[in-house]
Amino acid sequence: MKVYKFGGASVKDADGIRNLKQIVSEQKGDLVVVVSAMGKTTNALERVVNALWLREYEQVEREWQSINNYHQSVCRELNISLPLEMPETDVSSQSYDELYDQVVSWGEIFSTRIVSRYLSLVGVDNEWKDMTELLLTDDTFRQAHVDIAVSGRRWRKAIMSAEIGTHLWITQGFIGGTNDGRRTTLGREGSDYSAALLANMLHADSVTIWKDVPGVLTADPRKDRSATLIKELDYSDATRLAESGAQIIHKKTIEPLIEKDIPLYVKPFANPQAAGTVIHSTKQRLLTQVNWGK
Ligand code: ASP
Ligand code: MG
Repeated sequence: MKVYKFGGASVKDADGIRNLKQIVSEQKGDLVVVVSAMGKTTNALERVVNALWLREYEQVEREWQSINNYHQSVCRELNISLPLEMPETDVSSQSYDELYDQVVSWGEIFSTRIVSRYLSLVGVDNEWKDMTELLLTDDTFRQAHVDIAVSGRRWRKAIMSAEIGTHLWITQGFIGGTNDGRRTTLGREGSDYSAALLANMLHADSVTIWKDVPGVLTADPRKDRSATLIKELDYSDATRLAESGAQIIHKKTIEPLIEKDIPLYVKPFANPQAAGTVIHSTKQRLLTQVNWGK
């Protein structure tokens, strides 16, 4: 079993989703694919939440239309049709944070529906799984805590009871659900963490995060053009880097991997054959010079 994670940038348009298809169909064994919301959808959905909260319904409508148009145009390009309805929201009976999670989680639900439907259309069998039902969390909306024991049992059961021949599952990063079925989120940029948790629960052989950079670099390539690729990192160095504010991986990602000694690969989705970076237990600190200030 392997876990792949595709962030928003790697599924931001139809080409990205076709590329995802290429990458996942080259993997022959069991594979769980964790997908984020497309492009900047989460930010757009945050604007919907704010407008809803302020009861600025015209603004809600405008934001929603543009999110809808974006997703529909990707669907059209991929030749799939999916009704994208706005989630039902009851502003008066929910706290801001609860409302936030009900609305913002929509981004991951739809990106994964689109990916799953497209893969089926082009003959890549897969099962779509809803983290709302599988990843049990408490009700700390926007920063929910995951019950790893229960979620692990649910996931293992879901995989064992899949139809014979199924070896590909498509699911959402970032989101989970409470015992009474309300959606929760794990904190912004939390999809890496979701992928690591899944790998831990399923005793995966490895996790691969597919990104729009060659791997982990010595500095932010947008600010420093001399940034070079770091081929190998110890878990402890990766944690240090993530905590220093480097936008490489979410800082909670490493912990669940250390526990089961699962290597994490960070690879460029535009060049899947490239080695990228491997983060694992090296028993020594490899990192000497980095420049990833906040
Ligand atoms: N879509 C969520 C966000 O943008 C989660 C993620 O991308 O990891 O924060
Ligand atoms: Mg994102």
